[in-house]
Amino acid sequence: MTTSIGVVMTEHIVAGRLTGPLGQQKLEGDRLRYPLDYAETEALIGVPTSELYDLLASLIAPLIAGSAEPVQAVGVAVPGIVRNGVVEDSPNLAQIKGVRLADTLGEVLKDHGIHTPVHVLNDADAVAAGLAATGGHLDRLIRVWTIGNGIGYGRWPQSDGVWEGGHTIVTLDPKERYCGCGGVGHLEGIMGNRAMRMRFLDLEPEEVFANAKTGDARCREFVDLWHRALAAGTASMIHLGGPGRFYYTGLNVDFLELPMLKRHLESMVKMSPLQSYSLEVLAEDDGMSILGAGVAALRAQSW
Ligand SMILES: [Zn+2]
Repeated sequence: MTTSIGVVMTEHIVAGRLTGPLGQQKLEGDRLRYPLDYAETEALIGVPTSELYDLLASLIAPLIAGSAEPVQAVGVAVPGIVRNGVVEDSPNLAQIKGVRLADTLGEVLKDHGIHTPVHVLNDADAVAAGLAATGGHLDRLIRVWTIGNGIGYGRWPQSDGVWEGGHTIVTLDPKERYCGCGGVGHLEGIMGNRAMRMRFLDLEPEEVFANAKTGDARCREFVDLWHRALAAGTASMIHLGGPGRFYYTGLNVDFLELPMLKRHLESMVKMSPLQSYSLEVLAEDDGMSILGAGVAALRAQSW
């Protein structure tokens, strides 16, 4: 029997407790969330890191206190480049750039009398880990695109490297400079929420996709570009890592039209050994990332 805590910090923070035999953990009890209002998507923007630690601890501590079994690990999933417990960069949660998240959160938890080790990982990697755990395929390659404020790319098994798939170059047009990281021609510069708001100063992303459905030419053109960009990012991953299954999830996954994505991808991947890929949409649900964060934290201890 194992017990761990999974935490996800993206536009919001959500945490849950996982129990079960290794490889078959399930969420137990209620998830705790900040902010409580699901419609509030900018609650963490600009919040100082010291307050973020307190917020994280305020969700983790009661879950540990309420556990019947000792908790072996805390896994925290965040957007950006994460290595060895350090958030090296995080364009969509800028204040945590350079933060030694695992060590410092560990110290803050100690002040609450909690000595459980903390493991930090990329949020898209957490979704991939969660998928691997639910399917019982901890040995099979799983790749996930998370489509939200930023564009995340996650893999399971985790392997050394950066894997910032959202910053894949999908266009050489020098005018494409809306990416949160400042880079030109990036996938996130077309698909990310912030990028879409900068492109359509007069429209929210939801309105762009709604207007495209009712025939607005400018919006239709963009929706096509949005899908072509995602197809290009996926095609690059197929040409580098091979075919296999790709999952699509995240805050904005409802914008995704799978037939349109498939059509563009077919035009981009022509070598027959690479055409045995499959694409699957996963409804947005924090449960998968909570599970993945908790499972990855336990696995990190056994490696
Ligand atoms: Zn970028």
